[in-house]
Amino acid sequence: MIRKLITRLFTSKSNASALGKRVEAAGSSLGIDPAKLPNSALTVVRTLQQAGFEAYIVGGAVRDMLLGLRPKDFDVATNATPEQVKPLFRRALLIGRRFRIVHVLFGREVIEVSTFRASPGASGDAVDGDERNVDKLAGRHHAVDASGRVLRDNVWGAQDEDAARRDFTVNALYYDPSRDVVVDYHHGLRDLKARTLRMIGEPSRRYREDPVRLLRVARFAAKLGFDIAPGTLHPIATHSELLRNVPSARLFDETIKLLQTGHALASLDNLRRLGLHKGLLPLIDLALSQPRGEAFVMAALGDTDARIGAGKTASPAFLFACLLWPQVGQRWAELQTEGVPQIAALDQAAEEVLAAQAERLAIQRRISVDMREIWALQPRLARRSARYAYALLEHPRFRAAFDFLLLRARTGEAPQEFARWWEEFQDADEARRTELIELAARGVPADAPKKRRRRRRKPAGEPGGEAGGEPAAPAEPPN
Ligand code: ATP
Ligand code: MG
Repeated sequence: MIRKLITRLFTSKSNASALGKRVEAAGSSLGIDPAKLPNSALTVVRTLQQAGFEAYIVGGAVRDMLLGLRPKDFDVATNATPEQVKPLFRRALLIGRRFRIVHVLFGREVIEVSTFRASPGASGDAVDGDERNVDKLAGRHHAVDASGRVLRDNVWGAQDEDAARRDFTVNALYYDPSRDVVVDYHHGLRDLKARTLRMIGEPSRRYREDPVRLLRVARFAAKLGFDIAPGTLHPIATHSELLRNVPSARLFDETIKLLQTGHALASLDNLRRLGLHKGLLPLIDLALSQPRGEAFVMAALGDTDARIGAGKTASPAFLFACLLWPQVGQRWAELQTEGVPQIAALDQAAEEVLAAQAERLAIQRRISVDMREIWALQPRLARRSARYAYALLEHPRFRAAFDFLLLRARTGEAPQEFARWWEEFQDADEARRTELIELAARGVPADAPKKRRRRRRKPAGEPGGEAGGEPAAPAEPPN
């Protein structure tokens, strides 16, 4: 308490006012229906409150409920420390280092519980290199690097401080289901009504603290269909370079969120409008700058948006396999021209492309393994012989590889007929399957095993062409 008082005394006037004034409103009058809250979130809030702590549903869930959208997940904010939260629940895990939180598990559902944190701006910050001093300095200091990026964010604070360190005003709303009260410190309710995305505090400073917020602007503007407030928008152009500082694992997490909002196309559009796509996400950049890349990536993202809109999921492996495919395809073509056999060339192309982009965006190993399988199955799907077809159906990545083939067929890169063939083969009875295999063997001589011919390039889709194994980018220049 005394520590807090001292900090407040030393806090500059502008920071003090940055904390915002607490405003309360009745949730039910704003359209929140407490009956729709999941038991998991309610249990977490009530358990914490019964133990004498403050607890609120916070962030995206409150925002989405107020907008009449279905929240993706429910986060809880409390004044209990992670160590105090954990023992209150039977199944709870302490997570994270840079940002320590507790995951409370209910079956497959996870409620994220975070402790109220102070805004980095609310106290003198230790600069990178002073990290050893962080604890000595009364625990009120954040470690930041030379550009002002916050390296750790585990300084506990009060609710008003917690609100001030959140990104956008509409993301800083708290809801107490026990009292049916929405708490707002930064005119989030006003901005929600006006459909405006506004950064809390001084935007340039907030971008420097955490450059990932640049991407979050693109994501939320797309997801919510909000306008970006001028003050939030303007500094973006001059701060895009900051993204180069972001560790690749965080960039990966935030990119996945961006692609899985169900508004990936709109988010990408925003990234372009904001000048954030160049260099920042090399894979998106490249995917869009190659001859057939754009159509393919656009079709892939459009599909993903539709899937998510229909309540289905899109795996990160599938998404990234799509984004990197134009590059892999081009390299695959080059290697084959150099005389590397088809399958080996694809394998090598995958290896090279994954290695090249790993510097910027750390794709987790389990994801990159799946990506490679999705790619490697493409030429195999073209060989519709008895020897391959049955084994492929059993392959754990068959479904993803087949969806991938559908996309390739739709963008003219693989024959439509292949996609139709597999569509039918999957559900056909034995007799029909045998028939289909015979048809394929007769109809597409290029797929007959061991029949070596001089490769002659034919446009994808042309009967007899090798389009099933045809790389994404044509060797000839686009017209
Ligand atoms: P979604 O529904 O897409 O998950 P969300 O608002 O829940 O949206 P998250 O990325 O899950 O977004 O973050 C949860 C909350 O944590 C945000 O609403 C915001 O208050 C806060 N937050 C997350 N990332 C940041 C950040 N980089 N800077 C400041 N606040 C952040
Ligand atoms: Mg969330």
